[in-house]
Amino acid sequence: MEEIISAGLEELGLTGRVPEDAPAQLAQYGQMLLEKNQVMNLTAIREPEGVARLHMLDCAALLKFCDFEGKTLIDVGTGAGFPGMVLKILVPSLRITFLDSLAKRLDWLSEVYEDLGCIDSITAFHGRAEEFAAPLMGYRDSFDLVTARAVADLRVLCELCLPFVKVGGQFLAMKSTNSDSELAEAAHAIQLLGGRVAGIHNYLIPGTEITHRLIVIQKMAPTLKGHPRRWAKIQKEPL
Ligand code: SAM
Repeated sequence: MEEIISAGLEELGLTGRVPEDAPAQLAQYGQMLLEKNQVMNLTAIREPEGVARLHMLDCAALLKFCDFEGKTLIDVGTGAGFPGMVLKILVPSLRITFLDSLAKRLDWLSEVYEDLGCIDSITAFHGRAEEFAAPLMGYRDSFDLVTARAVADLRVLCELCLPFVKVGGQFLAMKSTNSDSELAEAAHAIQLLGGRVAGIHNYLIPGTEITHRLIVIQKMAPTLKGHPRRWAKIQKEPL
């Protein structure tokens, strides 16, 4: 895995911008993922090359489009740590919060970052995004960056994620390239939640013919009172 990751980072133009030991650390993380996946459902990808390309390099590609240095970031629905854990390995100064509604995935992830020795500026919250973004919790309008990959349709995802972003910050939604209709359907939600689409970046995952998309949504105004709503309401009546 290490060679594939190293070559992929080079192809993405990231060599020299990330720590020298990042490929080895990402490979170790990938190995731990494959081992644990035999007893816990963490990923549908079951071989090293797929993990290296479709998890590690897919997430690493975000560095082409956004500056993460020293920023605060919450990774909503992080699961086995994608993209958050990859970003933390590549940009150690990142102050990261992992959020997921499944405690056992977060428990496993804590083993990963302890084993890799990168425990600085890491927080993990077990819970639902729509509950953590409630005013009394204190995390609203407060993060420089919010990421999410494979969590929900963009319209729903905006209500889960945009409330965490501070004004001037960005929500980075990782999507496939056939997300045009999702994006169009999310236009109302984005506007209502104080956002504006600031960029749509398609990128090729190194060593594959797969193109993925990063949608960057800039937060222009504070979150409206009353959002996010309860999960049942979000699902039943998406914005
Ligand atoms: N982001 C990871 C990735 O790309 O591999 C995990 C994707 S997994 C398909 C979706 C994750 O989102 C699950 O771990 C699930 O527990 C979490 N999730 C779904 N809805 C959530 C919510 N409302 N709040 C927090 N976590 C949520």
